[in-house]
Amino acid sequence: MENTFGGQGFFKDASGTLWLSDPEERFGFRSTWKVNQVLCQVNSAFQEVAVVETEGFGKALVLDGIVQTTEKDGFIYNEMISHIPLATHPHPQDICIIGGGDCGVAREAVKYPSVRNVDMVEIDPVVVEVSRKYLPEVAGEGELDPRVQLHYEDGTLFIRNQSHVYDAVIVDSSDPVGPGAVLFEKDFYEDVYHSLKEDGLMVCQSESPVFHPDVLTRVHQSLKELFPVVRTYLATVPTYPGGIWSFTVASKSYDPLQEGRERLQLKDNRYVNREIFDACFQLPVYVRELLK
Ligand code: SAM
Repeated sequence: MENTFGGQGFFKDASGTLWLSDPEERFGFRSTWKVNQVLCQVNSAFQEVAVVETEGFGKALVLDGIVQTTEKDGFIYNEMISHIPLATHPHPQDICIIGGGDCGVAREAVKYPSVRNVDMVEIDPVVVEVSRKYLPEVAGEGELDPRVQLHYEDGTLFIRNQSHVYDAVIVDSSDPVGPGAVLFEKDFYEDVYHSLKEDGLMVCQSESPVFHPDVLTRVHQSLKELFPVVRTYLATVPTYPGGIWSFTVASKSYDPLQEGRERLQLKDNRYVNREIFDACFQLPVYVRELLK
């Protein structure tokens, strides 16, 4: 089927139905979405940004043809990457989000009453603009919380060059291709380490243990060389390839296996609760083997 619509991954079938397919095939597998409407499609300086209305998952943010978050299940990822580290730290005040352009992580982070400043460092202002305009279900309605400061620049440069130190750095990156690739490098994690207070912690999304086991292994190893506490946890995000997704928290002091569940902010959560906080660190054998 030819790409008649324009835009990475879009094509129409013989009946004229519009579909969006992952640009990358892995292990002969590719997700394909039925698209009812393209609400916006823009070429930014960094990537192709689109918001589409899917048949079954509501609206979706798409970067370079890859679905990043959907109205139906985006809350799972956003809650998991935010609440696990922010409950593990006993008193998170200064937070930095790298990436996070759909604003879903910022929305979760400000649920923690101790948080007084969130620097959100997104390379692409277009992602923030379209998410706030077309995806308020993920980004939140109206003005951003006044504690959130937006910085439009490459997260690696921001982390390397600023003098501020943080309690928590949340790396909400896209996949390790395009502008997001640098956010999976050890040099970047080293800079994150130095940008943290002496009891600070960081978290990143570490990709699918099924489709990108090499990425998970590399991220875990790099963080182990820097931080005394490194814990990988899992969540099921139905719209990500294979469904199962990994996150890795790396900490200078606090260990989520020892503490955190009682500090969880539960108001309006749709995924994270105390049982999930405990259960998400229980890893299947094949994932443990990737982390050896
Ligand atoms: N939660 C989704 C996921 O993991 O699929 C969405 C991630 S999306 C919000 C990641 C964001 O990181 C994008 O908006 C992208 O523009 C941004 N990004 C990619 N590379 C970056 C970099 N080097 N510095 C800052 N932001 C970056």
